[in-house]
Amino acid sequence: MNTLELVAPTTQELIAAGLQLPIMEAFYTIQGEGRFTGHPAYFIRLGGCDVGCVWCDVKDSWEAAKWPVLSIEKIVEDALAFPGRLAVITGGEPLMYNLGPLTKLLKEKGFTTNIETSGAHPFSGDFDWVCFSPKKFKKPHPSIYVEADELKVVIYNKSDFDFAEDHAKLVNSDCELRLQPEWSKAAKFTPEIIEYVKNHPTWKISLQTHKFMDIP
Ligand code: SF4
Repeated sequence: MNTLELVAPTTQELIAAGLQLPIMEAFYTIQGEGRFTGHPAYFIRLGGCDVGCVWCDVKDSWEAAKWPVLSIEKIVEDALAFPGRLAVITGGEPLMYNLGPLTKLLKEKGFTTNIETSGAHPFSGDFDWVCFSPKKFKKPHPSIYVEADELKVVIYNKSDFDFAEDHAKLVNSDCELRLQPEWSKAAKFTPEIIEYVKNHPTWKISLQTHKFMDIP
């Protein structure tokens, strides 16, 4: 007698397929940075990051195994509990995962999809807006450059201006260019960024307005 044994996929296989994802936190707030500043948005923060920025303000996100793994159906169901239909996928480094299935489901349910990424892994997913924030600590994957709608470079020290210009040469010509002072260095660098943008008007300033508003 032939027996057909059905083996359920493991959690690791479901994560690899993008059908389940480790979620550090998810919350409804106001987008504080970049092009969508001021928009109500549901943030989905995925656990896991291998970039290692020294000034990272979400170091807790780095270890993916610390966070519960949820199905994409549950993630989207939770998002639907709030009235806003802008979803921002962030991390951690969200492109460590296959974001195709999650973004497909979000869009089916009427969400506009945004991502905030360092671009350190191959691009995946169906996004209406891609905010690319490259980091010196891990080189971006080449697939990000054609996808980026916004290049947002965090200014932590003086050499970051050159780093920003190097990446501006690689993105599409209609990509919006923004410089953002790193929060702990804002007092030092904001005046320099103001002068830089005045002298290099292809750039705009991005501020972490949610920190001024004291919201997540
Ligand atoms: S890429 Fe983002 S989450 Fe990862 S270390 Fe840098 S700031 Fe932190």
